[in-house]
Amino acid sequence: MKKVLVVEDELKIARLVRDYLQQAGFAVVEAADGRTALSMAAAERPDMIVLDLGLPELDGLDVTRRLRAGSSVPIIMLTARSDEADKIVGLELGADDYIIKPFSPKELVARIRAVLRRADATLGGGEMIRAGPVSIDLPKRRVTIDGTDVELTATEFDLLITLARHPGRIYTRAQLLDSIHGVSFDSYERSVDAHVKNLRRKIEPDPTRPRLVLTVYGVGYKFADA
Ligand code: CA
Repeated sequence: MKKVLVVEDELKIARLVRDYLQQAGFAVVEAADGRTALSMAAAERPDMIVLDLGLPELDGLDVTRRLRAGSSVPIIMLTARSDEADKIVGLELGADDYIIKPFSPKELVARIRAVLRRADATLGGGEMIRAGPVSIDLPKRRVTIDGTDVELTATEFDLLITLARHPGRIYTRAQLLDSIHGVSFDSYERSVDAHVKNLRRKIEPDPTRPRLVLTVYGVGYKFADA
């Protein structure tokens, strides 16, 4: 049974989430503030953390930062719609996904299952990446779509491997820029859009209706989670 640590200071929401997760077959442990969350994460070794961003003691971003210093446990953030910037900072600190309040518990369960599936997949170590119709031979830097070779620039290639390594994972423009240049400035983040546009032109059957490299509005991009 997978264990989920639910970190939420609003009792009503915490109870709702707990009940729903238990019904869905998860073991649930709870914390109502940031400090308790950190000690519970260390003591209980959960498979997944559902983390409210607005917390007493340490807020959710502080908790994410401290967790990521020593752990790759999957984190789904709970955010208010007004926390637009926090959500992006959270993703950049290494949170795996976010869900906006108010949310349906059913949607939360679906997100948890998707993130756990990704975490379980042993991706990244091999020399081949396969995601949907895309195959990437890393040593040869060769990309094929349904068996047909595609010529990519070095930047497009690096962008594609970053996204395709973790299908479904959301990357901010700053993170993608890091993956292709190593430096990020606000003014350059939009250049990611231009690279994505070029990449889509080469790998999407219909670039006007992308099915592989998907836009996450207001945040960035992700590779389709088949
Ligand atoms: Ca809260």
